[in-house]
Amino acid sequence: MKNALITGVTGQDGAYLAKFLLDKSYKVFGLVRRLSTPNFWRLEELGIKDKVEFLDGDMTDQESLNNAVKLSKPVEVYNLAAQSYVGTSWKQAVLTAEVDAVGVIKILNAVKDFASDAKFYQASSSEMFGNSAKGEVKSEDTPLHPTSPYAISKLFAHWMAVNYKDSYGMFVSCGILFNHESPLRGIEFVTRKISDGVARIKLGLADKLYLGNLESKRDWGFAGDYVEAMWMMLQQEDPENFVIATGETHSVADFCREAFEVAGIENWKDYVAKNEKFMRPSELHALKGDSSKAGKELGWEPKVNFGELVRMMVEADLERLSK
Ligand code: NDP
Ligand code: GDP
Repeated sequence: MKNALITGVTGQDGAYLAKFLLDKSYKVFGLVRRLSTPNFWRLEELGIKDKVEFLDGDMTDQESLNNAVKLSKPVEVYNLAAQSYVGTSWKQAVLTAEVDAVGVIKILNAVKDFASDAKFYQASSSEMFGNSAKGEVKSEDTPLHPTSPYAISKLFAHWMAVNYKDSYGMFVSCGILFNHESPLRGIEFVTRKISDGVARIKLGLADKLYLGNLESKRDWGFAGDYVEAMWMMLQQEDPENFVIATGETHSVADFCREAFEVAGIENWKDYVAKNEKFMRPSELHALKGDSSKAGKELGWEPKVNFGELVRMMVEADLERLSK
């Protein structure tokens, strides 16, 4: 049985990845930070909470990371923990950097010192591209020009991960993942905010959905497909970085139109209002990724398309709220 350590196991990707690895007969260890109320709802929804071995720790605390690595004796480490919300990163730039940037040095150190043969996955982000190469499809070779404290922290972590590979000969792969969503997505992200909002309107629990920039475009895929790509990267002989994306881009308005349609509500514009509060100090206008390298070298491709993703999310929120 192979041991895997997942940081961020209570998050969207951590939960799907834990399920994926358990189904492959891994023993899964998950790093969990202390909260006043534990956050296990995703693992509970997937029915795997009792199958994961939890280890206490925090990305800002070196000793707890050392202990997690020593106790789990991993052959694969998936570093998914992060302050992952771009909006918050302007309000809590220092915290974002401490967790998403400096925290990555700490987990890399823990792996270098206590499990140097383990394969390491770093959760890099398409946000690192920012508005570089405007309008172009982004690949592994596209220049990076981050536009938020989150993206800048991720960029630091990305290069630090590459540097540990080059400096210490560690197996470190970075997945440059474009936005990926699911019914387990955090409620503050625009897709889940829309699916939840549409379900509330449909059920008479709300009458409006307040959003920011409706013109913004993203390459949205399904998180369940994307965690498989993380695993595939660590099954390679040599570590490499890969873009993971669908290659399609849609606007926030497109997502709204499609979501209201799934709920059988016509004239979506009557229910959506703009609120300046949800605009960003600096916007990343559009993202579209080219994952042909992952297609060729990993044999990875997305299985769930945009329409299926929106339907899955709206139906899940309708079911939750109907209960
Ligand atoms: P989530 O926000 O759903 O999950 C983040 C996880 O990190 C949670 O388990 C959270 O724990 C944990 N965490 C946060 N701060 C700390 C800390 N100080 N110490 C330990 N754990 C901490 O993110 P996703 O699952 O969506 O994303 C996974 C990773 O992939 C993140 O690094 C994200 O930045 C990156 N990424 C995500 C993309 C996406 O579209 N989803 C795109 C590209 C990259 P808790 O439950 O206690 O809050
Ligand atoms: P991000 O790509 O990681 O920032 O993912 P988000 O889901 O948070 O945001 C995606 C895009 O939706 C960004 O361009 C936001 O500006 C835009 N957006 C528009 N309205 C909202 C909103 O109300 N909430 C969020 N989170 N994003 C919004």
